[in-house]
Amino acid sequence: MDIKLQQVSYAYAQGTPFEKRALFDVDFGIPSHTYQAIIGHTGSGKSTILQHFNALLRPTSGEVHIGDRIVVAGKKAKDLKAVRQKVGIVFQFPEHQLFEETVLKDIMFGPMNFGVSEQEAEARAKELVGLVGLPENVLEKSPFDLSGGQMRRVAIAGVLAMEPEVIVLDEPTAGLDPRGQKEIMDMFYNLHQERGLTTILVTHSMEDAARYADNIVIMHEGKNVLSGTPQEIFKDVETLKNFRLEPPRIVRFQQKIEQMMKKPFQKVCLTEEE
Ligand code: ADP
Repeated sequence: MDIKLQQVSYAYAQGTPFEKRALFDVDFGIPSHTYQAIIGHTGSGKSTILQHFNALLRPTSGEVHIGDRIVVAGKKAKDLKAVRQKVGIVFQFPEHQLFEETVLKDIMFGPMNFGVSEQEAEARAKELVGLVGLPENVLEKSPFDLSGGQMRRVAIAGVLAMEPEVIVLDEPTAGLDPRGQKEIMDMFYNLHQERGLTTILVTHSMEDAARYADNIVIMHEGKNVLSGTPQEIFKDVETLKNFRLEPPRIVRFQQKIEQMMKKPFQKVCLTEEE
């Protein structure tokens, strides 16, 4: 399912004295099955954009195309429920949204609300706890008896239980230790590779964007100012200067990015030789 933003502008509290324009003519597309990163400083508009991907926010002007649905300023879009099922958002600190008595019930909640049978929802929950790296015996526990990292995984399983075609990740590793961060990022990368899940990563980590994404969009003051592959973005010293890196650090950073990107390249080569 392709997603396309066409000349999207957005203002919070439009028409009031508190009006705040957050997006200005944002224009880019995310083809199905790709891994897209969106990076930029705090306040550059990343969170505002991500809420357009499943119509939580509607543009003040412009159009958002989500598969065959078009969300246009001022018009009521039909069948947003289907859009919300197809585009799953893992918000920052998603564990804050856990509320059920058991992990099992929490993971089953979304699908059952969307008319999936109890049996099917339970089967999905059982498969997903393993996939997110938790033992099956957590299913009967209260989510509130788990560690923060485990709770994060339960919340992620709850989003995956909806079987979305697109998953949007808003700083999904914030607050985790380095090992937990890598495990979560690798898990999403594997899901993307193995199941073709379109993945949109909103992050301020240039390393994660370079390591995992096929394409990167850089946001600055509510505009998409640059886009391209990690190679195209990070070879440009001027871009890196905008991120306030000084020249000696830029060289080190580029070397680091090059090394990190070797892994996926080798993987691709091996598959071709087989
Ligand atoms: P980022 O996710 O890149 O940090 P945001 O999308 O959160 O950026 O914010 C973009 C701009 O919109 C910022 O200037 C921010 O202050 C403003 N903003 C964000 N949320 C609101 C809101 N609920 N009401 C008013 N202004 C907001």
